Amino acid sequence: DYMIEMQNVKKTYPNGVTALNGIDINIDAGEFVYLVGQSGAGKSTFTKLIFREEVASSGEIRVNGEDLIKMKWRQVPFLRRSIGVVYQDFKLLPKMTVFENVAFALEVVEESPKHIRKRVMDVLDQVGLKNKARFIPDELSGGEQQRVAIARAIANYPKLLIADEPTGNLDPDTSWGIMKLLEEINATGTTIIMATHSKEIVNTVRRRVIAIEGGLVVRDQQRGEYGYEA
Ligand code: ADP
Ligand code: ADP
Repeated sequence: DYMIEMQNVKKTYPNGVTALNGIDINIDAGEFVYLVGQSGAGKSTFTKLIFREEVASSGEIRVNGEDLIKMKWRQVPFLRRSIGVVYQDFKLLPKMTVFENVAFALEVVEESPKHIRKRVMDVLDQVGLKNKARFIPDELSGGEQQRVAIARAIANYPKLLIADEPTGNLDPDTSWGIMKLLEEINATGTTIIMATHSKEIVNTVRRRVIAIEGGLVVRDQQRGEYGYEA
């Protein structure tokens, strides 16, 4: 089964910039994919289309079988709940504790308080932060903040996790810890799409590499290598 299907996907922004110029790609459920390419290549636009943060100008996109072109606006929140997203700058709520940052993701789906408490502590345990549930983000290291963001992203058991340069603000040692965690999440069956500029990670943890350049897929390799050119 495909998690992502794109056929001739194009995206032109209102200012006339064409960010994607005919993307054809399928990603299987359970895959771990690196998205590489220079700044401005179209990586963020690619992930934003999947999350329906932007709408394609033309082409076909299916996510987990759902047609995103035909999808009505009121269905978008349901799509987003089935996708976890992790950002380079973590995007945690600064005045909330670690517990609250993760619980917040569950509260929007109207779970019972008892269920929320159990799920939050289980997922914090999974990322190694059960003992920091009462901390606020400022009291944590960068790597720990990213772990909280990952806990929040996977709390609803998403089938797909999008990670946009998740190690971009972290030192190498901390980055490897985050990679190990993402690999563990992938091993449970979660599809992962990770945009990255880390040559070291891509060339060490060998996975499928999709290279984007000028809004086109210029390379698509299983167990691929880092690099921009075709
Ligand atoms: P990447 O993530 O690889 O850096 P982006 O998808 O962010 O690439 O950008 C691709 C191209 O689209 C760039 O030329 C960028 O300036 C342009 N772009 C991105 N977002 C917008 C936007 N909201 N409005 C106009 N142009 C945009
Ligand atoms: P890293 O090696 O990942 O950069 P830090 O040196 O920033 O880690 O932090 C090391 C430990 O100190 C972490 O466990 C973090 O939770 C704790 N810590 C960092 N800053 C604060 C703070 N302002 N208040 C309380 N604990 C902190």
